Amino acid sequence: MNTEGDPREELLGLVRSLAERLRTDGEMGRALSYLVREQESVVAAAVEGSAAAEPAVGGLAALDGVREALGDCRRCLLHQTRHRLVFGEGNPQAELVFVGEAPGADEDAQGRPFVGSAGQLLTKIIGAMGLRREEVYICNILKCRPPGNRNPQPDEIAACEPFLIRQLLAIRPKVICALGTFAAHTLLKSEAPISVLRGRFHSYHGIPLMPTYHPAYLLRNPGAKKQVWEDVQMVMQALREERR
Ligand code: URA
Repeated sequence: MNTEGDPREELLGLVRSLAERLRTDGEMGRALSYLVREQESVVAAAVEGSAAAEPAVGGLAALDGVREALGDCRRCLLHQTRHRLVFGEGNPQAELVFVGEAPGADEDAQGRPFVGSAGQLLTKIIGAMGLRREEVYICNILKCRPPGNRNPQPDEIAACEPFLIRQLLAIRPKVICALGTFAAHTLLKSEAPISVLRGRFHSYHGIPLMPTYHPAYLLRNPGAKKQVWEDVQMVMQALREERR
């Protein structure tokens, strides 16, 4: 059943995410989630053109500032097991940003996002869109690899998400593409299946966001490539319209 747009479901989702947020705050012993909320309102205000939230500087300098603020991050326990922190890479003024889940073993070894087998497929998808990897920006919800590629935990997301928000604020993309369930759920604060979320644009503080299947899922389910192609064609169309 598609419950999108059902006010009762929306309310339930809101209550669930509030409960999760309170639980995470309790676990963290500090109000990191409120920092996230604060950052979100900064993003919302910035993309809606509020002068109060206008960053002094965008692009590379602003991204460098975010990297500097992140430092040798030890805000969650993942720093104990990571080899390299994976900040993200690409054009600091990219019109299109891809957001994945978290680094895997290859990314953890190289300090670069999407360089393993799923990354090679993502590079092909970007090429099929008529773009080069260097033209877009690629990052993840988490900047450090969860051991054994387990699912990211709420406290890890709470610690990392403010930096992703600041990256997006610095880049100011025209379109965001969320790769997979986890990225879509985290960015959209939704628990709807990716099969329901994909195929149409959502709003991330006013920025069009297209959720689609993760390239790692495509490696296991090549039949889903057709749907990803439909999704990225919509992304290309949106970018063309933005350029007009
Ligand atoms: N999967 C992801 O979600 N991100 C990466 O960087 C690599 C694999």
